[in-house]
Amino acid sequence: MKLQLHNTLTRRVEAFSAQDPSRVTMYLCGPTVYNYVHIGNARGPVVFGLLARLLKRIYGATHVVYARNITDVDDKINAAAAELGVPIGVITQRYAKAYAEDMAKLGVDAPDVVPYATQHIDRIITMCERLIADGHAYAAEGHVLFDVSSYAQYGHLSRRSREDMIDGARVEVAPYKKNAADFVLWKPSTPDLPGWDSPWGRGRPGWHIECSAMTAAHLGETIDIHAGGNDLMFPHHENEVAQSTCAHGGKVFARYWVHNGMLTVEGRKMSKSLGNTMQLTTASRSTGRSPRWIRHGARSMAGIRRCATCPLYRRRNLPKYRRRFSKRSPTISTRPRRLPCLRASPTMHAKLQIHKYRKTQKLRSWPQVLSSGCCRSSRSSGSRAATTPAHSTRHRCRPWSTRVRLRNSRRISPRPTACARN
Ligand SMILES: [Zn+2]
Repeated sequence: MKLQLHNTLTRRVEAFSAQDPSRVTMYLCGPTVYNYVHIGNARGPVVFGLLARLLKRIYGATHVVYARNITDVDDKINAAAAELGVPIGVITQRYAKAYAEDMAKLGVDAPDVVPYATQHIDRIITMCERLIADGHAYAAEGHVLFDVSSYAQYGHLSRRSREDMIDGARVEVAPYKKNAADFVLWKPSTPDLPGWDSPWGRGRPGWHIECSAMTAAHLGETIDIHAGGNDLMFPHHENEVAQSTCAHGGKVFARYWVHNGMLTVEGRKMSKSLGNTMQLTTASRSTGRSPRWIRHGARSMAGIRRCATCPLYRRRNLPKYRRRFSKRSPTISTRPRRLPCLRASPTMHAKLQIHKYRKTQKLRSWPQVLSSGCCRSSRSSGSRAATTPAHSTRHRCRPWSTRVRLRNSRRISPRPTACARN
């Protein structure tokens, strides 16, 4: 079987070949366990659990090592533990167990290795020491920081320029940093926080280096596939590449980088910071569907919330969309893409309306949608506050209010005032 993957490193779909077919290695960045996960967090395990299953089918179950870590030391965990007045171990055990149970309910296969960050402190310290010795990191005020100026390829994965990264980091530049974009490998801990003895005093690891240390410990210095959500590409994965490559004498860290897209709600990423999350049990109860059905949503749909006014998202149409998208994916591709909750994906909604209009007008070429026409889209110029009273009571889309450019066509179409279904 020929396996093709969208490699974020090259931005191309490439045929996958293992560096050692008798030991194919894949690593997925796992959860930080300080609360119950929401269904958006499940997308990565669902997608890449499927990929691991496929790899095992191709190479043999005993020839694939799939690791998904647990981050069990983090400022958010510390805050949750302090709030309840319990050690961090109580919080992390509780939510790591809940995470494993939720994934099992979704039918996600357990990974072969589940490394915990706190079990790899020695390796993290060794890696920091090696980076300092090679001139890629420096100690300052109890911290150890990676010097991004020492690695010329920094920014290659996320394709960001040095200026962009510095602009992003300029918001809060600590005085002990040599460069604004330098990132923390180790940081000091006060007595009330969890910490481990190190050459730089009592402290705890930064988030990025945990994954590098755990990957090297269980899968080797060069792995076949590194997976994760596309929101982790910068800075987390970029930093992983920098510190692993520099700590291992310039060896390639991951040969293929694969990223899943985000689960969206009304066009916005589902995230705790936006307050639009839904836990698995809540999703299951509100839709009246089993977690297995939610699994399908996590893998191939942009959202699971039913939209009462959007006919293309009614329940009866779901099988049609399942068929359509399963046809589209004869091979496994992890390229992030917009999928069918049309309110969640206004661009797609506009495209379908254009398809309808193109057929009626017999246009010769596809118009290109430059922006969304959904009146409720957060990207539309007016936003909700500026919508008309009619829109505020009922969702009515005006896809032709979008800017449309007719490429390779001389025919300029009249612009109807509302979409055909209205
Ligand atoms: Zn990671």
